[in-house]
Amino acid sequence: MRYYKGNLHMHTTRSDGVKTPGEALRLYKAAGYDFVALTDHYVYGEGGEAENGLLVISGAEYDTGTNVRDGIYHIVGLGMERDPGMVNTAKPCPQEIIDRIHQAGGLAVLAHPAWSLDTPEDIARKRGFDMLEIYNTLSGKPWNCRPYSGLIADMLAAQGIYYPLTAVDDAHFYVGDECRSYVMVRAEELTQGAILAAIRRGDFYATQGPEFEYRAELYSDGSGLVSVDCTPIERTTFFTDRVYTPDRCAVGRGLTHVEYRVKPGERFVRFELEDAAGNAAWSGYVVRR
Ligand SMILES: [Zn+2]
Ligand SMILES: [Zn+2]
Repeated sequence: MRYYKGNLHMHTTRSDGVKTPGEALRLYKAAGYDFVALTDHYVYGEGGEAENGLLVISGAEYDTGTNVRDGIYHIVGLGMERDPGMVNTAKPCPQEIIDRIHQAGGLAVLAHPAWSLDTPEDIARKRGFDMLEIYNTLSGKPWNCRPYSGLIADMLAAQGIYYPLTAVDDAHFYVGDECRSYVMVRAEELTQGAILAAIRRGDFYATQGPEFEYRAELYSDGSGLVSVDCTPIERTTFFTDRVYTPDRCAVGRGLTHVEYRVKPGERFVRFELEDAAGNAAWSGYVVRR
């Protein structure tokens, strides 16, 4: 098993991106990526086998909704075995998009919910999201606003809905929105089957640079310990469903180990790390079931 670096959301000249698929693949390959998904709007990007060390997994993004009151949803399908056959003009409803991605054998990712102003209540009514983008590069400055959806994810987690969390570029313009936010997936080999199996079992984390491993122990008295070893960082925050605890943040130079003592009553913990250059990393949820 080893870690593979991948970008799960990007656009090309097949929809509203400025690079051709070939140019985009060469650029990510040169930046050290192991795999990518070409997720053009309503254009099914086929997967294949790794070529020169770069694997393309199948993908597409399906956006729907015209105003925020009724809900705007952008949903990325990954690892589909065939084209789910949806067309842009028909604008299927979010639940139909999720279901058709699943019928084609894929995973349905809720893209940039903060940017789309999706509410936790409305998201919770949808069945079958497999993952949620906690960070989307293009949704941030200088192109946009609201790149970070951690608050929405935590509001869902507080209601007992825990989505695995990805970070992606959503690259369109390739002027700094590329090669920034990615996932590290721990898999047996660089094939679409192995990468998707690892993602399905939650064996990945989201990052812009910091790397980490962690161990979580939850004891029967309600307490627990989350213990993180990482590349040097300056800041860490542990997020839980408790509004106040005095020890959720740590700051220091070149920290390579941080810990959090879980308090009785806390049902979930996740953490974020930040290095000296401001690059973040995001864990998934540790949950007391
Ligand atoms: Zn989108
Ligand atoms: Zn997109």
